[in-house]
Amino acid sequence: LPRTGLARFSGTRPRTGRVPVGIGGRRQRIVVTGGAGFVGSHLVDKLIARGDDVIVIDNFFTGRKENLVHLFGNPRFELIRHDVVEPILLEVDQIYHLACPASPVHYKYNPVKTIKTNVMGTLNMLGLAKRIGARFLLTSTSEVYGDPLEHPQKETYWGNVNPIGERSCYDEGKRTAETLAMDYHRGAGVEVRIARIFNTYGPRMCLDDGRVVSNFVAQAIRKQPLTVYGDGKQTRSFQYVSDLVNGLVALMESEHVGPFNLGNPGEFTMLELAQVVKETIDSSATIEYKPNTADDPHMRKPDISKAKELLNWEPKIPLREGLPLMVNDFRNRILNENEGKGM
Ligand code: NAD
Ligand code: UDP
Ligand code: UDP
Repeated sequence: LPRTGLARFSGTRPRTGRVPVGIGGRRQRIVVTGGAGFVGSHLVDKLIARGDDVIVIDNFFTGRKENLVHLFGNPRFELIRHDVVEPILLEVDQIYHLACPASPVHYKYNPVKTIKTNVMGTLNMLGLAKRIGARFLLTSTSEVYGDPLEHPQKETYWGNVNPIGERSCYDEGKRTAETLAMDYHRGAGVEVRIARIFNTYGPRMCLDDGRVVSNFVAQAIRKQPLTVYGDGKQTRSFQYVSDLVNGLVALMESEHVGPFNLGNPGEFTMLELAQVVKETIDSSATIEYKPNTADDPHMRKPDISKAKELLNWEPKIPLREGLPLMVNDFRNRILNENEGKGM
């Protein structure tokens, strides 16, 4: 890797005593990998609004320029088409590392690429963090708990994960990413932060990414039946995206490594979720049962006491308030899609 001309940054930047960002703090330069995606683009909006300089790195596998188009022309915003599997040289203060397909449909599409993104991509971003003395936040996932035998899940639970299943590229990939982060922390003194994110929803989710909230909302708008997989009694906890973004920033600015569960503890069966979608969008929507996918976790609900206590963070928006906030965005995009098809 050519490092000419950049040697003065090599590991010499002080790692402590950093001035906090935000009002009164100095402007920070922040990289957001995966910033053209669903969560990343909302995070970028928050950082830009706060006054920071933001560089997005994205290969547009699942991300879209449309998610960031409102920032084009803003001198504090920069978008780089780059695959995190390849090394990159940048000089920044903080790295939010989100790049990775998040929905089962996308991460199973090319499982080897998903592992490379999780392992080589995270390694590169940690190598970058080490070289420039930047603080590094990993967006890990509740999937590290697998099909959990402990309920709700605390950060101390080590998980029940199938190493050779269809989801392994994602959940084992994220577990390795967490290991890498901790090894760079212990071995190289990199300031790392680990967030374990639970199911999150909101505007800008990919329309057809196969996740249950985006599926149900799109189906209700398109007047199609809501597809419930299995018996619909499996549970998930759904977090609105602005709550997550607040949690990610609180974690990055804190002095705690984590891991921290970031999720909404409100727990719903898929049938209950279908009911909320019906109430919100179309009370006449019907349900169609379909076979469930392999290795589907039966239940998932975060224990967020650690984040409450140490980050002073908890989600504010319950499902019944959050769901209506994504409907207009989905309606508009479905409308555009139909116009594109001449409908
Ligand atoms: P997303 O698919 O909308 O965003 C991921 C972004 O990463 C996309 O813009 C994609 O183009 C980009 N990307 C993928 N591979 C890349 C690569 N090799 N190089 C550069 N860019 C690449 O997903 P999201 O829901 O916004 O998820 C963001 C992060 O949060 C992911 O790391 C995901 O694992 C994690 N997460 C999300 C959820 C959730 O419910 N949304 C839950 C747990 C964890
Ligand atoms: N890396 C990078 N940008 C940097 C520094 C490192 O992309 O500014 C990559 C580098 O190419 C390597 C990885 O990060 O593949 C790990 O770097 P590290 O220095 O920790 O390990 P090494 O280069 O010794 O393997
Ligand atoms: N699911 C469903 N109908 C759909 C899509 C998903 O019933 O159209 C179920 C799926 O089987 C799983 C739950 O919803 O039990 C959450 O799935 P999702 O893919 O959204 O997230 P994850 O499995 O990663 O938590």
